[in-house]
Formats: sequence, C-alpha cells, structure tokens
Amino acid sequence: MNTISEPARETPIVAEADVVVAGGGPGGITAAVAAARCGAKVILIERYGFLGGMATAGMIGPILSHRAHNAPVAIIGGIPREICDRLASMGGAVPWEAALKDWGVRFSPEIFKVMADRIVLEAGVRIMFHSYIADAVVENGRIKALIIENKSGRQAVAGRFFVDATGDADAAFRAGAKTTHGRPFDGRGESMGSMFRIGGVKPCPKEAHDAVRRKIEEARASDYLHTYNPSFFQPSATVRSDESTPNLTRFGGSAVDAETLTQAEIFVREQSWRTFTFYKENVPGMEDSFLAALPTNVGVRETRQIVGPYALTGDDVLAGRKFDDSIARASWWIDIHCPMGYSHPGHLCNSKCAMKQPCAFKDAGLHLKIEKMHPPEGDWYGVPYRSLLSVSFPNLLSSGRCISATHEGMAGTRVMGTCLAIGQAAGTAAAMAADKGIEAPQLPANDLRRKLIENGALV
Ligand SMILES: Cc1cc2nc3c(=O)[nH]c(=O)nc-3n(C[C@H](O)[C@H](O)[C@H](O)COP(=O)(O)OP(=O)(O)OC[C@H]3O[C@@H](n4cnc5c(N)ncnc54)[C@H](O)[C@@H]3O)c2cc1C
Repeated sequence: MNTISEPARETPIVAEADVVVAGGGPGGITAAVAAARCGAKVILIERYGFLGGMATAGMIGPILSHRAHNAPVAIIGGIPREICDRLASMGGAVPWEAALKDWGVRFSPEIFKVMADRIVLEAGVRIMFHSYIADAVVENGRIKALIIENKSGRQAVAGRFFVDATGDADAAFRAGAKTTHGRPFDGRGESMGSMFRIGGVKPCPKEAHDAVRRKIEEARASDYLHTYNPSFFQPSATVRSDESTPNLTRFGGSAVDAETLTQAEIFVREQSWRTFTFYKENVPGMEDSFLAALPTNVGVRETRQIVGPYALTGDDVLAGRKFDDSIARASWWIDIHCPMGYSHPGHLCNSKCAMKQPCAFKDAGLHLKIEKMHPPEGDWYGVPYRSLLSVSFPNLLSSGRCISATHEGMAGTRVMGTCLAIGQAAGTAAAMAADKGIEAPQLPANDLRRKLIENGALV
C-alpha cells in the first residue's frame, strides 16, 4: 500500500472529565447518566447529531432482555427502566407492565432521541455531537485522551476513565487495547441487517396469508428478496398499529472494514426498497402504504470486542450462570444471525442450518446444537464485572456490545435491554473508581454491586 506522510501536529485539549464516554448508544447513554449521577464530571462523545445508536440510527426495536426468559418478570431496573418509563410517558413506548407480557419493549426511535437528550443533559453530562473518535493518546500505560475530528478540526478530550460504548470498540482499538473480532474460526461476526419503516399499513386479511407467504417464499428462493424470513407484517420497532418495521435484510462481512460497510449500506438499502415495493404490490392491506423511513446506519450486530479478564460464554447463557461479580442481568438466547450473510432458506447459525451455499464453519461441524441455545425457562444469567474490564488499560471499561464475551456469549448480551443495564454498571464503576482514586480492576465488585442495588439497577 502506498503511504503519505502527514505533518506532525499539536492537538488542543478542548475538554477534560473524570469519565469520558465514547459513543451515545444504549450502552453509552446509561453509562454517562450513571457516572454523572454518581458525581463524576462526564463527557459523552457521539459521531451523529443525536443519541441512541442502533435504537435511533438503526431504528432497531423492541428493547429485548427486559424480562426473564419467556416469563413476565423484570430483570432490568434502574436507568434502563427509567428510560422505558420516560418513553412511555411521552407516548413513545408501550407501558412497562404491558411490555413485560410481550417479548420486548416497543418504542418510537424519534421520541427516543428527545428522551435521550433530556435524560443525559438533566444528569449534567456534556454532550459532544458530530465528533468522530479517530485516535487515542496513551501515556504511562493509561489512556490519556481521545482524539476526535469534527467541524472545528482535530481535538483532544482528556479523561481519567474511559468507557468505550462505540459498539465497535473504536476507542479501545485506537488506543491499542487487545480486542477480538467475531468467532475464532474465521473472525466473522454476525451478519449486518436493517430495520426500516413502512407507513399506512392496514391488516392483511387472514385468508390471504398463505398465498402471500407463498409469493414471498418464491421471491426469496430466487434471491430477488434477500430476506431471512417470509414475515410481511412486523410491528417490532413502533408503537403504532399502522406501521410495519421489517427486520429482514442481511449482509455478511465486517462493519469495521470501510469498504465492506459501504457495500453493506448500498445493498441493504436497495433490498429494503425492493422488499417494500414487493410487499406494496403483493400484500393485501399494503396497497396504500409508503416508505416512511430508512435508517441512518445499516444495522450492525457484532464487530470488535475488548478483551477483559473474563469472556462471557455460550455455556454461561445456557446455564443461567450467576457470578459473584454479576453487575447486570440478561436473558436473551444464543441468537446467531448467519455470519456468511446468507438469507435463504435458513435464518440462524445452528445445527438446523439448511443453507445450500458453501460454509467452511458448517463443514467443520462447529454449529451449535439447536436445543443448546436458550437459558433456562423463567431464568436469566449474569454479566460479570470482569467482562467490562480491559486486560490492556486499567482506566478503560467497555459497555454495550463491545464487552468481553465469546461469539456465542455476545449473541445473547448484544440486545438493548442488556446493553442499557451494562452501561449503568460501567458508568457507575468508572465514577466510583475516579472518586476513590483507584484503577477500575481494583474496585471491589461487591461495592459496585451494592451501589447498583441501591440505585435499583440490580432488581
Ligand atoms: C438488524 C438488527 C436487529 C436487531 N434487533 C434487536 C432487537 O429487536 N432488540 C434489541 O434489543 N436489540 C436488537 N439488536 C441489537 C442492538 O440494536 C445492538 O446490539 C445495540 O444497540 C448495541 O448497543 P451499543 O450501545 O453497544 O452500540 P450501538 O447501538 O451501536 O451504539 C454505538 C454508538 O457509538 C457511536 N459511535 C460509534 N463509533 C463511533 C466513533 N468512532 N466516534 C464517535 N461515536 C461513535 C454510534 O454512532 C452509536 O451512537 C439488533 C441489531 C441489528 C443489527
């Protein structure tokens, strides 16, 4: 590769904080609010002009893992619950008690943006929007600052503790922290995909369902529709009955490779349009429907993760394992969307995979057994504090989908209910360590757990 030499430059430190949170998605919002409410000076850096990450930029929903596995018992509390309640009070989510009876908390991504600004600002957090984390400065074995690029130029944000909630472990990676990417077999993570919004939808008469499904199956079999199931009405990411928010498209490859990410955006957008027009023409009730919104960002499920002293495993999910240092509860199962990006006839990467396309992972017999994918009924598993630490830097914590977990473990913990809960723990830990003048690994997990219980986070 040809290279170019850049002139050496001095970067101004434009802000300093006790806790710098990188990324304002579900894992970043709760981290920032928690740290600020614990008394820390907090800066939240976000590349877009709004918060929410996949919840808003990806239009992803509902919030999963809010309750025990298949049981109406809450497993998240604290700030994540407050977020759900605030959304509901703004008409932007299904009320909590109703959501407990459902598989997730359905919400409006647009109202989420307003709610997120409010909850973060009320906590006293300084937000830096339109700021892309492009580098990091390390000094004496600790991260000293993150380097951001924005309309004002190249700037440094210094901090005592850093919470990486970028989803892609961008801050950690730029600092040179040890990270992983996808499954060990070939480094592939789960496929990307998208959700989009169709408005003006009326219910499809029941008697038409079978014929509609047959048509969709034919279009999928010919790969005209590169969608992973024949569902034609999905109200997953909306609170309105006249909207459908399909979660169907997919693209295999790494979302931290710029060229692949570009291809993913184009392919998935085209597929969303194709799916919408096909449905409008073929699904009774959708004749007058319209494409209401496409996401800002293609949906990303799994990329880089920070290596911590413990990686949460698929066995932990299956066993409903609780740890002495559990700082969050989770219940989602080992839900691995085909890392090859194939969409037909299968859906998930497990022993029931019916894909005909080449797959070295399948040939090697490495697929998980379909019956070994779920936590025990009515139960949950813990996320240990050790999975939020970094083996590389004592002042770095991870949050959301870049915590330390195996490919299988991450397939369970990557959902938003868990990312929100992990965020509260990460922010609380960073603030406590800053207050005590110790490094994050020295913070006794019991002290952290006690604080989380006090704040209603561990229900
Ligand atoms: C197609 C699809 C369907 C899904 N379905 C569901 C579902 O139904 N329910 C559910 O609960 N979960 C679902 N998920 C998973 C869930 O949405 C994500 O795993 C979750 O949002 C991760 O939260 P996070 O905060 O870790 O990361 P993200 O939501 O990715 O947020 C990261 C934030 O960091 C910012 N950022 C990233 N890099 C930088 C940088 N370099 N500089 C500055 N800012 C940066 C981003 O803009 C973003 O705001 C789905 C995911 C996909 C892709």
